[in-house]
Amino acid sequence: MIKKPDILKNRAYINGMWVSAESGKVFSVVNPANGQKLADVPDMGKEDTEKAIEAAFLAFPVWRSKTAKDRSKILKIWHSLVLDHCDDLAALLTAEQGKPLTEAKAEILYGASFIEWYAEEAKRIYGDIIPTHKEDARVLVTREPIGVVGAITPWNFPHAMITRKIAPALAAGCTVVLKPAEDTPLSALALAELAQQAGFPPGVINIVTGAADSAAEIGLVLTTHEKVRKISFTGSTEIGSLLMKQSAGTIKKISLELGGNAPFIVFESADLERAAEGAIICKFRNAGQTCVCANRIYAQDSIYEEFAVKLAQRIKALKVGAGDQEWVQIGPLINGQGLEKVKMHVQDALEKGGKLVCGGKNHDAGALFYTPTLIRDMNAEMLLNQEETFGPVAGLFRFGSEEDVIRAANDTPYGLASYFYSKDLGQVFRVAEALEYGMVAVNEPVLSGESIPFGGIKQSGIGREGSHYGIEEFTEMKYVLLGGL
Ligand code: NAP
Repeated sequence: MIKKPDILKNRAYINGMWVSAESGKVFSVVNPANGQKLADVPDMGKEDTEKAIEAAFLAFPVWRSKTAKDRSKILKIWHSLVLDHCDDLAALLTAEQGKPLTEAKAEILYGASFIEWYAEEAKRIYGDIIPTHKEDARVLVTREPIGVVGAITPWNFPHAMITRKIAPALAAGCTVVLKPAEDTPLSALALAELAQQAGFPPGVINIVTGAADSAAEIGLVLTTHEKVRKISFTGSTEIGSLLMKQSAGTIKKISLELGGNAPFIVFESADLERAAEGAIICKFRNAGQTCVCANRIYAQDSIYEEFAVKLAQRIKALKVGAGDQEWVQIGPLINGQGLEKVKMHVQDALEKGGKLVCGGKNHDAGALFYTPTLIRDMNAEMLLNQEETFGPVAGLFRFGSEEDVIRAANDTPYGLASYFYSKDLGQVFRVAEALEYGMVAVNEPVLSGESIPFGGIKQSGIGREGSHYGIEEFTEMKYVLLGGL
């Protein structure tokens, strides 16, 4: 139950006002655990997005001219408001997204950590004085906020994917137009309400909501509008590529956090208990719907059988149900499309020789629930090997040598997160260096945090979020030559 209902909003937020769509259209947000409607939210389009961009454009000179310390102060108030509302924000997140309440709370704290981190970083956007190349001149380099940022976020982390983008943008002095995912706009609107309470001036943060059918229209305006200088997107590689093409016409700076296909490798020297525990966390968090979820689990020949048993025991013990119940570990999938993809991957793996150890069917907790599944004897021909499953299905592959598994792990167009377990120090260095991924976790299943540079290579994206690097994505370098001195 939500105790402070101020965070429940059902209108979009443009120029400091809560507004309906120009067209008057709305779409429904539903709870994936039971199909119940939570709210009707404005289904916006071109005109609404243009208004939001104008508001952000007009607010930019006001916001950028504040001192870094003043921006930092407002970010810090926003941060404490998010913490004050943590339980309510988590309940709302669980209601619209489905993840278990404990995970939702962890996401709120994770999301808040970016606001706190960038409230501090705002004050540390330093420049340089470069030794001059002319006797009577001096050379200064500064970093300036880039301008209006168009941000588009996915449903799987409806809170943290927003703060991870907009906290650094705001800290740098940029203003923002954000489009959250159709399935999870309420978490975005709750953040906007708390931002309003924190004292951000009108137009600094704008939220344009839209149904999936309107996403292309809103995205087209954001990516082609001359007044938007930067696009920051988290979502699928397919849409990221489209947005990159669309942004080319106006040469926007872009950052893309896209899909992954993470390998999780267990070498024979590994602590198998720790690796099995890790595989469960890494694979089944958010019902397997994270971009950094283990997608392909590889175990070395000599420990394959033992590891398969340890994994199966843990998977069979996972508790499935509606996320608002304390004991639940696996919630529903986000929607029917997500469920169909999971079923297709399982069917394909079984047709191509995979052996079902457990699960492999819908769960009777509700229409969008799937039973945690383990398939062994996986091979490279299977769909699960080639694309992210985004569901509670673990596929276990077998490998012989270190060289073989590195080749298999790298044989994908994606390069986001990777994981391996080994106690052999030489192997740790060799494998960490050989994996073609933006992030490598050794003997650990969770690699996120506000202080680390999160991001991928290859078709998993461009740029980094979090850490002191994350703020650079929202600044431009300026060189000033002072002559005739
Ligand atoms: P998606 O379909 O690409 O959607 C992401 C966002 O883009 C949503 O807000 C969506 O709106 C919007 N969108 C869809 N079509 C658009 C268009 N033509 N123009 C502009 N915007 C458009 O991805 P998703 O299914 O929501 O999210 C899952 C994907 O995100 C996975 O691939 C996952 O790996 C990736 N992801 C990556 C990271 C990372 O940090 N690398 C983090 C989380 C998720 P609608 O929802 O209204 O359609």
